[in-house]
Amino acid sequence: MTQESPPTPAGATELPSIPVYRPDLSGNERAYVLDCIDSSWISSLGAFIPRFEAALAAATGAPHAIALCNGTVALHLALHCLDVGPGDEVIVPSFTYIASVNTIAQTGARPVFAECREADWLLDPAALERLITPRTKAILPVHLYGAACDMPAIMAIARARGIAVVEDTAEALGCSLHGQHVGTFGDIGTFSFFGNKTVTTGEGGAVIANDAALAARLRQTKGQGQSLTRRYWHEILGFNYRMTNIAAAIGVAQFERLEQILARKRALALRYRAALAGLPVTFQRPIPGVAGSDWLVSLLLPRGTDRDRLMAEMAALRVETRPVFHCAHQMPMYETGQHLPISEDIAARGISLPSFPALTDADVDRVAGTLQTALAAQGLA
Ligand SMILES: *Cc1c(COP(=O)(O)O)cnc(C)c1O
Repeated sequence: MTQESPPTPAGATELPSIPVYRPDLSGNERAYVLDCIDSSWISSLGAFIPRFEAALAAATGAPHAIALCNGTVALHLALHCLDVGPGDEVIVPSFTYIASVNTIAQTGARPVFAECREADWLLDPAALERLITPRTKAILPVHLYGAACDMPAIMAIARARGIAVVEDTAEALGCSLHGQHVGTFGDIGTFSFFGNKTVTTGEGGAVIANDAALAARLRQTKGQGQSLTRRYWHEILGFNYRMTNIAAAIGVAQFERLEQILARKRALALRYRAALAGLPVTFQRPIPGVAGSDWLVSLLLPRGTDRDRLMAEMAALRVETRPVFHCAHQMPMYETGQHLPISEDIAARGISLPSFPALTDADVDRVAGTLQTALAAQGLA
């Protein structure tokens, strides 16, 4: 209790509510944003943009990083710059956030839905291989919840056939496989810096690439196709997908604390696993060699759980949770009549727990206890 805290009313027992996510803006975020305002550099020119790009390049080991205004346009830009378009097919896991799928459709290409693996919930290379046709232009693996897809297997399949790979790395900043950061295996890696992502800029995104010519095309295309050396000379079709200097200012401050943020999130994930070890829940199990970044601690409830009821009971105890994503192949606009049993099972049973860096150990224990109470109410714990 500090002097600033309001006095607790006599008899009050209500605990503060625990959200799923709350960004930690406790470093230089405020100072850097004020710098933008004081200097009047508030649009997409300004010193924080190159600093932000350099920080992302350093964190991932990618030679080229380009800041963008969100993670969805990052995916669209990546696909567009790999010449994905009408008549093409792009293979994507059905169990993903909808942006991975919508951006394929936005290019005029057709999303082809692949099954995921039961253990790590991520794109199954064997399922992927079966879906390849002469029209397959690209593969879009998604590193969900801070774990890494089996990139060596996926890249072997892609390279043997000259198929491009865009890695959706929105949820996996800080995650590596055998020491290599995800997003650097394929042609392009895409990031989101939305308010609930490991690093946030409010709304924000980026692409990383190994190839200099591809990086130049990405940079030119995100800036209206303007020549990189001649102003108002537009050589190719482009978009305005630029990040603002204000957003980059927040991001630069966030990257200063990336290691602390990641360390705290890993510690939270370990504590959750220990606290829930006795319950009939199943965690995502990444493949060997993955150093995950534990974006949102997510788990599968036992079969037969009424998920909506469980989440409502946890909410009544002031613990917020969220369901995992629905399968894209079951969405009205993508309905394919396919049956992907593993993806459908995960989508039906998964929930994500509060996983933000300022969460205390006591909060984690309270969330775990609340989950146990809600499972017990259904005779499952
Ligand atoms: C957050 C997210 C995106 C999209 O990012 P926005 O910045 O919200 O546009 C894309 N893919 C995945 C897997 C995400 O989690």
